[in-house]
This record gives sequence, structure tokens and C-alpha cells, in this order.
Amino acid sequence: MFPFESIEDFKVELTEEHELFRKAVRQFVEQYIEPRAMEIEKTDRIPDEIFEKAKELGLFGVGIPEEYGGQGGGHVMEAILMEEISRVSPAVGTAIAVRALFTTPILLFGTEEQKKKYVVPVARGEKFAAHANTEPCCGSDVAAIQTRAKKVNDHYVITGRKIFITGADKADYFVVSARTSPPKEGKRWWGITVFIVERDTPGLKVGQRFNVTGLRGERPHEVILDEVKVPAENIVGPVDQGFKVIVTTYDHTRVGIAAQAVGIAQGAFEKAFNYALQRQAFGRPIISFEGIAFKLADMLMMLEAARLLTYWSATLADRGDKRFIIAASLAKAYATEVAEKIANLAIKIHGGVGVDIETGVERYLRDALITTIYEGANDIQRLTIIRQLLKNLFGLSIQMT
Ligand SMILES: Cc1cc2nc3c(=O)[nH]c(=O)nc-3n(C[C@H](O)[C@H](O)[C@H](O)COP(=O)(O)OP(=O)(O)OC[C@H]3O[C@@H](n4cnc5c(N)ncnc54)[C@H](O)[C@@H]3O)c2cc1C
Repeated sequence: MFPFESIEDFKVELTEEHELFRKAVRQFVEQYIEPRAMEIEKTDRIPDEIFEKAKELGLFGVGIPEEYGGQGGGHVMEAILMEEISRVSPAVGTAIAVRALFTTPILLFGTEEQKKKYVVPVARGEKFAAHANTEPCCGSDVAAIQTRAKKVNDHYVITGRKIFITGADKADYFVVSARTSPPKEGKRWWGITVFIVERDTPGLKVGQRFNVTGLRGERPHEVILDEVKVPAENIVGPVDQGFKVIVTTYDHTRVGIAAQAVGIAQGAFEKAFNYALQRQAFGRPIISFEGIAFKLADMLMMLEAARLLTYWSATLADRGDKRFIIAASLAKAYATEVAEKIANLAIKIHGGVGVDIETGVERYLRDALITTIYEGANDIQRLTIIRQLLKNLFGLSIQMT
């Protein structure tokens, strides 16, 4: 069992309610997203009607408590939502799920007023929100950010540049990390603070759109902050301890990225399986060739293992078991890497048409690649796994970066 204690620790708790929810999301996806998936890819834009329908169905509120405008349900529900949408359009999955990067830090560390003022409209789908942490200098190394926030009387003035910010173009609200104090001796992470910044605050500008390989329709933007004045009441969590706010947020949201990867892998597998059944070569369906059948079997092994890890990590998180952090990193790294492999194999099974953009298979590989990088690159997941293991099981804190 090491590093876990009992077989009970591996329970995956899925109920009839989860299955009913999955079916409802599948219906939404097949009716409103599937027919437009190729249009999203080609126009690089998600039609407003998809967001409108998602809002009507309450999908922005999944995983957010009812008292803050949400639908309730925990990490498992969020994983189901992300998996089902990403099976057809990972870009739409990201566009809907990104709000968790805004609501999670506020729900975990924010004040009651912040929850009412900012989480409620986002959970209802009335407002969009984004999370601005990454900078040109640094993504993995959160402690190194250079955006500054200077205290002036009862407010702060933020100046800096954030890059790769998903949903920035639509966002009404942002959470923004900034350095408020220098690091302390032996504590590089000390001195960062997280703020809620409203879109129309003077000095905040959404800049260039990044031309990343995948997630066509939901590509990230830069956000420029030029002396943006923010009231002190918009600070999320303790001043100077925002590093904890940021990394704890990712502990929770990375379960969603694992689920997104499972959705991508599922979509790619289904396409490959159907093609292998229908495509004939040398007078036989290609699935009858061992070279193709073995590939499909390997794809299914990886897919189901990734799904189990993902739902297991979501279950631990919903139980409030702190070991979910290790499980979420295991799931995120494994699921995203096998999604990449499965998408690649799906292309090969399709032969020439696999690399034709019109077929809609190669996009899964481009999208999977991004899942291995964002919300904590997989090298960082590996460090987290071992760091958590040492800390939680042996009480050791070993410098690893
Ligand atoms: C499409 C997309 C959307 C994004 N959306 C957002 C968003 O909404 N908000 C936001 O704030 N950010 C966002 N990001 C940024 C994303 O979170 C970062 O790109 C990611 O955390 C990696 O940071 P980096 O790009 O600076 O790479 P770096 O940190 O420079 O890493 C470069 C390489 O070095 C490796 N590396 C770094 N440190 C270590 C270490 N200690 N040990 C081993 N290897 C290491 C990394 O794994 C990686 O392979 C997005 C990125 C993309 C591509």
C-alpha cells in the first residue's frame, strides 16, 4: 500500500447522480458543441450561443457551493464536466473551466464579501473571470514573479505584465499575483500577494493573443497592468502569503486538467477505433491487423488507467483527504502524457487522413500537448509528488528546486 495505508484509500466514489449528470453534459455537448467543433477550430472562436447554453444549464456553477450561486457538487462533478466537453472540444472545456482558477482561491482564502460579490456572478455565468499569474520571467517558478504591488494609503498600485492568460479577452474579473514585499531569508515564496482586479480598472489592458499550437478558440492573452489601483479589501488571503494561495489553487484545479486529458484521450480513441473498423486495406478492416489491434489495446489500457487515477484523485479531494494533492499530480502528469500518446497513435491509425486537419484528429495531439504544460508542467508535478510524499509521510522538507 505504501505510500497509502489501506485499500479503502483507493476507493473511487461514483454515484447514479454522477452518471445522470454525465448524460446531461453529453447531451449538451452533442447538441451544441459537436456540430460546431470544426468551426471553432477553423475560426478560432467559440460561438456565444455555446456560452449562453452553458449558462442556462448552470454549467459555470458546477463545483461551486449553492450559497455562492453554484450548483454544488465537488471535484468529481467538475471532472465529469471537463472530460465530457473535452472529448469533443478541449477549447470549450478550458473556456468553461478557467473560471475555477478565479473562484477556487476566493472560495478557499477569500472573505465572505468577496465570495458574494465576485464568485456569485461567475458561478451563474453572468460574468467571466481569469487567473493572471504567469509572467515572461516565470511560470513554474511562482516565487520569482516581478509584478509589483505598492501600498498607498488604503489601496495598492499594481504594475507588471502577465502572459498566457486564458480567458483574458472575455474576463470581467482577474485574480492577479504581485510582489508586495521582498522575500525573507530562506523563504523565497514570502512577499507575494493575490488581488482581485476588475477589468475596467484604469491601467489594466488586455494585449496580444498568443499563437499557441492548440486550444484553437480559447488561446491565451497577455495582460498589462500599468499602475492599476486596487482597494486593500480585494486582497485574497493573507498579505505576503499569496504563494500559498496560488499553489493551493493549482492543487485543486489540476484534477480538472487530468479530466480534460482523459476527455481528449477518449475522443481520440473513439475516432481511431471507429476508423479502424471501417477502413479496409488488403481486403480486410485494418482492425484485423495485429499492428492496429495492439495499438488500440494499448490506447485503451492507458485511457482507463488515466480515468481511474483522475476519478480517484477527485474522490480524495471531495473527501477532504490531503493526500489528494499527490493523487492529483499523479493523475495530471499521467493522464496528460497518455493523452498525448493516444492522440499520436490515433493519427497513425488514420494514416494520411490523420494528418489532414479536416479529419479532426490531429487537433487532439496539439491540445494534449498543452495539457502537459499548463497548470503546472509535468516536471513540476513529479517534484510535487515526491515533495508531498516526504512531507506528509516522513515530515521531511527537502529543498528540491
Ligand atoms: C495555452 C496556455 C494557457 C495558459 N493559461 C494560463 C492562465 O490562465 N494563467 C496563468 O497564470 N498561466 C497560464 N499559462 C501558463 C502556464 O501555466 C505556464 O506556461 C506553465 O506553468 C509553465 O511555465 P513556463 O511556461 O514559464 O515554463 P518554465 O517554468 O520556464 O519551464 C520551462 C521548462 O522547464 C521545466 N522546469 C521548470 N522548473 C523546473 C524544475 N524545478 N525542475 C524540473 N523542470 C523544471 C518545465 O517543466 C518546463 O519543461 C498558460 C499556458 C498555456 C500554454
